[in-house]
Amino acid sequence: MPITSPRLDRTALRAQFPALAQEVGGHPLVYLDNAATSQKPQYVLDALTAYYEHDNANVHRGIHELSRRATVAFEGARVKLAKFIGAADSAELVWTRGTTEAINLVASSWGMDTLGEGDEILLSSLEHHSNIVPWQLVARRTGARIRYIEMDEQGRLILDDLPELLTDRTRMVAVSHISNALGTVNPIREITEQAKKVGALVLVDGAQAVPHRRVDVQELGCDFYAFSGHKMCGPTGSGGLWGRRSLLESMPPYQGGGEMIRTVGREESTWAEIPHKFEAGTPNIAGAIALGAAADFLDEVGFDRIAEHERELLSYALERLDDLGGIRVYGPTDLDERSGVISFTMGDAHPHDISTILDSRGIAIRAGHHCAQLVMQHFGISATARASFYLYNSTDDVDRLIEGLASVKEIFGPA
Ligand code: PLP
Repeated sequence: MPITSPRLDRTALRAQFPALAQEVGGHPLVYLDNAATSQKPQYVLDALTAYYEHDNANVHRGIHELSRRATVAFEGARVKLAKFIGAADSAELVWTRGTTEAINLVASSWGMDTLGEGDEILLSSLEHHSNIVPWQLVARRTGARIRYIEMDEQGRLILDDLPELLTDRTRMVAVSHISNALGTVNPIREITEQAKKVGALVLVDGAQAVPHRRVDVQELGCDFYAFSGHKMCGPTGSGGLWGRRSLLESMPPYQGGGEMIRTVGREESTWAEIPHKFEAGTPNIAGAIALGAAADFLDEVGFDRIAEHERELLSYALERLDDLGGIRVYGPTDLDERSGVISFTMGDAHPHDISTILDSRGIAIRAGHHCAQLVMQHFGISATARASFYLYNSTDDVDRLIEGLASVKEIFGPA
């Protein structure tokens, strides 16, 4: 059992993440950069090393005990993750290096095969670059046109514009489930319902959603869903793309090589069944297995509790920031419309300076454009400071953040 009892005893839970037990600059670490990547519990680290220590072999090919064990664990993790995101069929889950590769896979395979001159791809202006640039690359090569759902002054998508933006030329709507730069939670179900009316496919970038809430790809009604393992207590270089079986079957391979073929001839080759058709070369076997352990870990803690805890932290932090004063927080004001990401600016203090001062006190936040330059342009700024929470953070962490920001305020003066 990964979790000690009682289940959400914060100290017991935190103790399972070895990296959190260190000091930085002589201060106990406060880790508030979870939207960039999460820390990993011992349970996941053990799964990673257990594979290398006992079962290390290549999957699918070897007829020997270690290869059999590795294959069972690797494919078992696929079944686990498919269930974790509500997929009906584990063959619909393709292992990728993360969200970025999953989106590139769809843009490149489906996009290059399907899109033509004048076809439209609808994105939103709060996307991470990973859900913009792959579409720009494919648009340039196919003649397709990119359009954007804009956002309002709180960073919420203006869905009233959808009927006008969705046309009979719209082939793909690609939107994030939750924004990494603002924390905005997008109403995916509503977007998919409208997209379906014009026959467009919907891809959801779930990088910031799968770690924090129960995702059910079937309930969302989307066609593709992309996520990263490293933001959900899993290893870097792990993640997946879920796609509807009929679509994945109709799409050409993304990369060529071993594992993805059925037969190879001198001129022509034929492809393996899905998902293997999209998994050329030796996969991240240890990463997939450890990601399966991360899914078990999160299930054991329970998403109801994770979501409730993060909401409490968010509410507490917003109140304390308000009390401190001189801080502009971006994103929706209604807590139902946002997640545990707080993007903010503080008068004349540059976000990099804020981050550097906090770092000197052992507090890790992020500063910059967060790979969301369109969001920054929308608000007329170049960067924000961003604190983001996860299940192991506590109100003590928030208090340390506020103390740190109070010292930033002293240095830079009131806003
Ligand atoms: N999409 C969103 C919303 C993200 O927050 C991130 C990472 O921060 C990505 C995509 C890219 O994820 P990865 O770098 O794991 O592929």
